[in-house]
Amino acid sequence: GLAKQISDMEQVGIEAVVPIAAEGVLYGILGFSRKRFGGVYDPDDLETFRLLAARTAVAIAIHISSAKIAKREHLAVIGEMTAMIAHEIKNPLGAIKAAAEQISIHKNEMECEKLTLMIREEVLRLDTTIKTYLAFARPVSIESEEIDIVKLTVRCAELFRNEANESNFEVTVRNEKVIKVAIDPDAYRQLFFNLAKNSLEAKNNGRLNVTFIEDERVVSVMFEDNCGGMSLEVIEKLFNPFFTTKTGGTGLGMAICKKIATAMDGKLFVSSTEGFGTKFTLELPQKQETT
Ligand code: ADP
Ligand code: MG
Repeated sequence: GLAKQISDMEQVGIEAVVPIAAEGVLYGILGFSRKRFGGVYDPDDLETFRLLAARTAVAIAIHISSAKIAKREHLAVIGEMTAMIAHEIKNPLGAIKAAAEQISIHKNEMECEKLTLMIREEVLRLDTTIKTYLAFARPVSIESEEIDIVKLTVRCAELFRNEANESNFEVTVRNEKVIKVAIDPDAYRQLFFNLAKNSLEAKNNGRLNVTFIEDERVVSVMFEDNCGGMSLEVIEKLFNPFFTTKTGGTGLGMAICKKIATAMDGKLFVSSTEGFGTKFTLELPQKQETT
């Protein structure tokens, strides 16, 4: 085979050949045709070719291995997520099954009503859990509109207060100006709720304060709470999918926020003082001036 390959190459005028190989793997060969101004290739030329081929091989090897790592990480996340979902679904399903069995035994109306309510609550919990996983797994689709982000935030705060009406949690939005940005209101609402929920869950009677600053480059939205802050270890892992310090937490809220911020071409930063509170800053690009 080799002799044939060499004669094939001679046929098409290849005079020098070097292997494209790295770490014992041959990716291909690099052939050079006759020297343009005559003469034969000297050892220096060959050394240059060898170097060129070796560099090429390293570039190919790096490309292949990084693609492999990305795929492996992706699969690992999917595996982890599947296990979590199975776990999260098991408990409510067990409770629903038990309640249904009880209903078929008890014919007492009061008892049955209580059990039906329990089933409804469990189904609702399942629904919320599954929605969270989907929000994490799905790519964020961003349908940007030009919106007053201050007004939208006020609206989010109202919705959040309605949901958290049993607690003494306070949300305030400083809204003395209009700031137009191009964002997806649904994605922003999701981000707001994930942040506000974490503050509420950290301290039931705490407070979340939302303020805005803008310059010609970015619009910054600051979410500051007084809900006890986080340790350095927690801050380090905060955005990792599945990292949670809560029993029954999904650990996806912050990962989703990060994903949303990135999809909006923005950034999300955190700073936190343990024992005091946490501040998240969402930086969004200023809308393009169409002049
Ligand atoms: P989950 O809420 O399901 O635990 P998240 O990704 O939303 O998952 O949050 C991850 C962890 O970060 C939480 O378990 C909590 O320990 C910490 N955390 C997030 N936000 C705050 C906050 N505002 N105050 C204190 N701790 C927080
Ligand atoms: Mg959360």
